[in-house]
Amino acid sequence: MATIDNFNFDGKKAIVRVDFNVPLDENGNITDDTRIRGALPTLKKILNDNGSLIIMSHMGKPKGKVNPKMSLSQIKDAVAKALGTDVAFAEDCATADDMAANLKPGQVLLLENLRFHPEEEGKPVGIDKEDPNYDAAKKEMKERQKEFAKKLASYADVYVNDAFGTAHRRHASTAVVADFFDNDHKMLGYLMEKEVKAVDNVLNNINRPFTAIMGGSKVSTKIGIIENLMDKVDNLILCGGMTYTFAKAQGGNVGLSICENDKLDLALEIMKKAKEKGVNLVLGTDCVAADAFSNDANTQICSAMDIPEGWEGMDAGPETRKAFADVIRNSKTILWNGPAGVFEFDNFSAGSRAIADAVVEATKNGAFSLVGGGDSVACVNKFGLADEVSYVSTGGGALLEAIEGKVLPGIAAIKG
Ligand code: AMP
Repeated sequence: MATIDNFNFDGKKAIVRVDFNVPLDENGNITDDTRIRGALPTLKKILNDNGSLIIMSHMGKPKGKVNPKMSLSQIKDAVAKALGTDVAFAEDCATADDMAANLKPGQVLLLENLRFHPEEEGKPVGIDKEDPNYDAAKKEMKERQKEFAKKLASYADVYVNDAFGTAHRRHASTAVVADFFDNDHKMLGYLMEKEVKAVDNVLNNINRPFTAIMGGSKVSTKIGIIENLMDKVDNLILCGGMTYTFAKAQGGNVGLSICENDKLDLALEIMKKAKEKGVNLVLGTDCVAADAFSNDANTQICSAMDIPEGWEGMDAGPETRKAFADVIRNSKTILWNGPAGVFEFDNFSAGSRAIADAVVEATKNGAFSLVGGGDSVACVNKFGLADEVSYVSTGGGALLEAIEGKVLPGIAAIKG
């Protein structure tokens, strides 16, 4: 099987799926170019080999329609600057035949937003799921998706997927297109390889003790991962807003804290399962409670099981922070998804900071630490600690699905 490292792109045209869904301000200026920088090793390897590059990506959710606000033309110059070479732009990704055919080695072509065509996502448009004709429309769209993917494939000799953020979607450019290349002419890019290896390190190649830290607001969005991890981890720290669903399930008073009343049984079930499987489940015991959802609210430290009426738990308390940090410091594999409190407010970020510091310390002592899933990445960035953990994942939904043990279509399409 081909890999990005062992393939020689000399004289070849490579079509590369990247994730250039970068945030733009109201004037179309890029506010964070992390994703462009992330794809550079793959793109530069192809150019350095004397290959030509066809870059494709989505931006935003244009729902199958042309929308100038989501045009990749806005980032063409930034891509050219990052690559240090001119970039041509194809205004319609589905009719770029001539531009692709005329590309010389070392030249770069950026295709317009793939999602301006409904075929990219492959979902029928303008028809309700309840409509009796929905299944027929879906079937027809799948055929159109295949044709669209075939067209993209026709531009190039080789397909490279370096867009981990969309690897959990079976879209034309992330998975279907791979069917039109043989195993020697399709491969993962460097970013994808790193993500796959990082997930493998926490799912299959585990040094113990293995600690997973799951935070964020709700149990319901994390339940799939929690269940999958229960078979693998030694310690499971559940923190953030979830704390109060567990507290209430055990008969606690949670005041105005975020709490999923329909998940109380599920919380008890998780506690029971952890016990059965010998997993050390670590829940917050004390918390920083506030009298309003605001950085300037009045605060008090109280038991997570006994929050006064009118107050809400906003962050892990000092005793909890110490307990979490003690477990994390002694771990050899760490997965962290979701903050321990409302870290966006400085006055309620101490819990997440304590976790981040302990993860960094464990990493210095040889642990492998993977931080991933939207808000925990924002958290380590806020604390300036992203370079001090082993790996910060670029994929939100894709990472979570991979950790749940699901096969990602974007990876399966290449690795089989
Ligand atoms: P999630 O997207 O589920 O990972 O949730 C992340 C969000 O959970 C962040 O925006 C945090 O502010 C929020 N969060 C964490 N702890 C709490 C809490 N105790 N109360 C309310 N929101 C919280």
